[in-house]
Amino acid sequence: MRTVDSPNHDERPPGSEISLVVLHSISLPPGEYGGDSIERLFTNCLDPAAHPYFREVCGLKVSAHFLVRRDGSVIQFVPVERRAWHAGVSSWRGRERCNDFSVGIELEGTDEAPFEPAQYVSLISLIRQLQHTLPIRDIAAHSEVAPGRKTDPGAHFDWTRLLAGVAAL
Ligand SMILES: [Zn+2]
Repeated sequence: MRTVDSPNHDERPPGSEISLVVLHSISLPPGEYGGDSIERLFTNCLDPAAHPYFREVCGLKVSAHFLVRRDGSVIQFVPVERRAWHAGVSSWRGRERCNDFSVGIELEGTDEAPFEPAQYVSLISLIRQLQHTLPIRDIAAHSEVAPGRKTDPGAHFDWTRLLAGVAAL
């Protein structure tokens, strides 16, 4: 796993139990894969002149703990002990501010297309590793913790496949 340090994180509130994984999808520009735009976004280095869409997002201070690329390779941006800035205004089972108690995982992709088999393999392996050290109880879509505001990772994400892989622990 490659590590790229994002500055977009801070301390979790004291005593936070990290019990949730929030799944996202991202591609920059949307629908285009490869390149280093996501890394640039998460490190506040995205060039607003490089693409019209980048102008909209380049000022955002965002991050996720992990990114799973189309080929299944994983990049870690934020240590799991730290609070990454991925979910925004959100709630899960009545608890607000999901960033406080979650690990954020981005899948390179869009809401409009299926994800790659290699991404499921890496995602399942990653979540199983997290389960060794963290009391993960739930895996939720960003669209579930921020309904009406977010739609990722979208209808093409195969939950059956993911949950079957994770449950095979
Ligand atoms: Zn998201």
